[in-house]
Amino acid sequence: MATIAQIAVPGSTKTISVPTGLFINNQFVPSLDSKETIECINPATEEPICSVVAGSAKDIDAAVAAARTAFTTTWGKNVSGFERSRLLNKLADLVERDAQELAELETLNNGKPLKIARDFDVGDSVACIRYYAGWADKIVGQSIDIDNKTKVAFTKHDPIGVCGQIIPWNYPIMMWAWKVAPALACGCTIVMKPSEFTPLTALKLSELIVEAGFPPGVVNTVPSFGSVGGAALSSHLDVDKVAFTGSTATGRRIMEAAAKSNLKKVTLELGGKSPQLIFESADLDQAANWVALGFLYNTGQDCTAGSRVYVQESISDKFLQILIEKAKALTIGNGLDEKTGGGPVVSKVQYDKIWSYIEAGKQEGATCVLGGEKRSGKGYFVDATIFTDIRPEMKIVREEIFGPVLSVGKFKTEEEAIQLANNTTYGLGAGLHSNDAGQCMRVSSALEAGTVWINQYNLLYNNVPFGGKKQSGIGRELGSYALDEYTSVKAIQWNYGEKLDWPL
Ligand code: NAD
Repeated sequence: MATIAQIAVPGSTKTISVPTGLFINNQFVPSLDSKETIECINPATEEPICSVVAGSAKDIDAAVAAARTAFTTTWGKNVSGFERSRLLNKLADLVERDAQELAELETLNNGKPLKIARDFDVGDSVACIRYYAGWADKIVGQSIDIDNKTKVAFTKHDPIGVCGQIIPWNYPIMMWAWKVAPALACGCTIVMKPSEFTPLTALKLSELIVEAGFPPGVVNTVPSFGSVGGAALSSHLDVDKVAFTGSTATGRRIMEAAAKSNLKKVTLELGGKSPQLIFESADLDQAANWVALGFLYNTGQDCTAGSRVYVQESISDKFLQILIEKAKALTIGNGLDEKTGGGPVVSKVQYDKIWSYIEAGKQEGATCVLGGEKRSGKGYFVDATIFTDIRPEMKIVREEIFGPVLSVGKFKTEEEAIQLANNTTYGLGAGLHSNDAGQCMRVSSALEAGTVWINQYNLLYNNVPFGGKKQSGIGRELGSYALDEYTSVKAIQWNYGEKLDWPL
């Protein structure tokens, strides 16, 4: 039998029990052959939390087989949309019931502030599951008249099948909900591989899958290292689709593996280097608030982090002063402290990566006007850091840092602003701040990004699609668009009157 870890919540007498095995066929089980474990670390203290089983390629085979059996027996086309909706609504109620505990676990494993984990990550996940519960019985095709006398055609939106879902560590619960909810609404079955840095909440959510009443094998969870479980899922011959969120480098590997195996459908939500443009007509105080949110939310570990900002020259000094004060106002600390607005970064690997970018910024001649100094003591803390005097070829301007580091440049004209913003291989998010309506229309249509925010930044809604252009990804999550990614359209052509004369 797989074991359960009792995790103490610092500062309280509470413990959270978390299953540490693999979740296959509604049971927590040990690995078939792996002796490896994943060590979970609290990034605020650098102390170990617990270890969980690291699944092998053989475990992925077992999970895929369970998902296939469920797809062809109890789920897939064997369950009505009404029932899928009922079960998803039940799941949402359970996640809402356990919001505090799930948030505490997320904070311990990921570092993010507890109030944000509870009110945003878990809150939005509950809303996302309910949103797709609403869709489950409304997934319909079209009826197409051919000649109104002898023939008709219609389409059915079939569930695509067994889906491998590979998620990152920056929003472990929310990425779980974004993937699981539309897949289940469409009738797909799932093998979920959480990030090796943050597997705990996916395991805890698996308990709720059983409690909600989903049949065995509909959702399976295999914590595993990316190069083992992630690679096995992407190259598996019996997986019909892989949905992935993570880095562009890994996305490329997944697409290659899919192409070389069974040409499974792939959706990729990848990285970004998203720009924000501040025009002289903007409300500067508001724009500074959105820019601060854009690069500091989730300690900058955000795929849409607005990590490049370009300000019209006439207002740039004034804007920078306001922005520095806004950035200083955020308290970065232990996520369990209710005063904390930003937590540590997730891991030592991420911490070292961010510092190497800060050093590169200094070496390449950018001016560090805020932050840029390491703290002493435990925890992977990085304070808000702002660079000015940037050039397009600098690493900090070109590459995704995934930390609270902002590059600020200047522009003179609207054309120059658009050119600077689009000068990237990525195309996930972009923001513009202006009170000139014509300019808002012109610039938003010229920006090359999956989402353009005007006079706001980084807000996402479950009914608005999300995804990238260029090297930021393929496909869309959220909204009704996500349903297309989990269904396959079948055209049925019916002859009820035409006779075929043969030979032609
Ligand atoms: P990552 O690519 O290293 O890992 C993401 C997931 O992929 C993890 O579960 C990992 O185990 C797995 N993985 C690693 N190697 C694999 C392989 N060879 N085959 C299959 N799976 C493999 O990314 P990360 O460091 O966990 O997350 C940060 C990245 O995610 C950033 O680049 C960020 O921009 C991106 N991200 C994008 C979005 C979006 O919606 N576009 C959202 C969040 C994060």
